[in-house]
Amino acid sequence: MKNAKVIIARLKAAGFEAYMVGGAVRDYLRGVTPHDIDVATSATPQQVKALFERTVDTGIEHGTVLVLFGGAGTEVTTFRTESGYSDNRRPDKVEFVNSLEEDLRRRDFTINAMAMTEAMEIIDPFGGKTDLNSGLIRAVGQAEERFSEDALRMLRAIRFSGQLEFRIDTETLQAIKQHAALIRSVAIERIKAELDKVLVSRAPGISMDYMLETELNVYLPAGGLFALDWSRYAPGDEPLAGWLYLLHHNDKTFEEIRPYRFSNQDKQDLQRAVDASRLEAWTDWDYYHYTERQLKIAQAVSHQQEAITERQAALPIRTKSDLTVGGNDLMEWTGKKAGPWLKQWIFQIEQAVVVRRLANDKERIKDWFLNEYHRHT
Ligand code: ATP
Ligand code: MG
Repeated sequence: MKNAKVIIARLKAAGFEAYMVGGAVRDYLRGVTPHDIDVATSATPQQVKALFERTVDTGIEHGTVLVLFGGAGTEVTTFRTESGYSDNRRPDKVEFVNSLEEDLRRRDFTINAMAMTEAMEIIDPFGGKTDLNSGLIRAVGQAEERFSEDALRMLRAIRFSGQLEFRIDTETLQAIKQHAALIRSVAIERIKAELDKVLVSRAPGISMDYMLETELNVYLPAGGLFALDWSRYAPGDEPLAGWLYLLHHNDKTFEEIRPYRFSNQDKQDLQRAVDASRLEAWTDWDYYHYTERQLKIAQAVSHQQEAITERQAALPIRTKSDLTVGGNDLMEWTGKKAGPWLKQWIFQIEQAVVVRRLANDKERIKDWFLNEYHRHT
């Protein structure tokens, strides 16, 4: 909050209006530390850039400049409205306006449409504070209109319900039911980002209940898979745990959810987590063989609930390069040239060391290896 206040003070000293807005104000009023603070200002992006030494044009066409200050980045956005939305997802044009209120009016929900001065005074033209206190997610203005403008807002309402453990206002909920099919026009990346947030929210079950009640899931890729009992799902900080839960309880493979365009890393970790989750009990070899992240994801559906970090820290080695011997040693001891045989024997040694059948000691390994080697050749 300190950085934002300094940025606001500097904008005001230069004759502009500036406020903290959106999620940061909501979180501040809930007594939660916001993870980032957005600033809205009457200054144009060029004027913002002229006032600060280090800025990045992260979304300059939408009026957003990232101001690097105090070891962090703060997004500073010019007051704007959006209009058009002929495709239910992207405004045809973004227009700068000179009133804060107009900027707040384009925001999705009343609880997200408040501003705050650097003296912590709240500006709340749409009754966000009342809704926040009664735990309500309510669209700013006409819900139907707002969802036709940008259909992602329907999924955002559902996401905030699980994140904040709030109810969705009746009229807003009705509008989601009516317009659910519009979600098909939204880019999959935006949908996936909201679903990921649901899966790490405090109460994913609330979101999932709304998803099924509104039938929004019907219009999502693999939407049928969301219809399951989420009450046994314990959310953590890893969305992939939720995706694994979904696959596991539907008895489906990764192929089903491929349309969500997971990164290669996520895809690999999820698939390996599927494998790990199927194992009866995790041995030292499994703790070695799978990464901490993969096992953590697997725990969403596996009975193995031991502390992964501790089990991994206690392993004799963490990677092959921790071995006291390498391919060169094996070639020297046998007088044989490099070849596929090396990899196989290194693997044997690796396994023996990990499961503590063999100490990670060069002499011990040499004795063990030569003995085994001559038995097998
Ligand atoms: P979080 O804590 O999850 O970041 P947030 O409220 O900051 O929640 P963001 O997605 O970061 O959510 O958006 C910041 C603000 O921008 C919102 O509070 C809201 O005012 C506005 N906003 C974001 N997306 C939309 C949208 N699709 N339509 C209208 N307003 C939006
Ligand atoms: Mg945010």
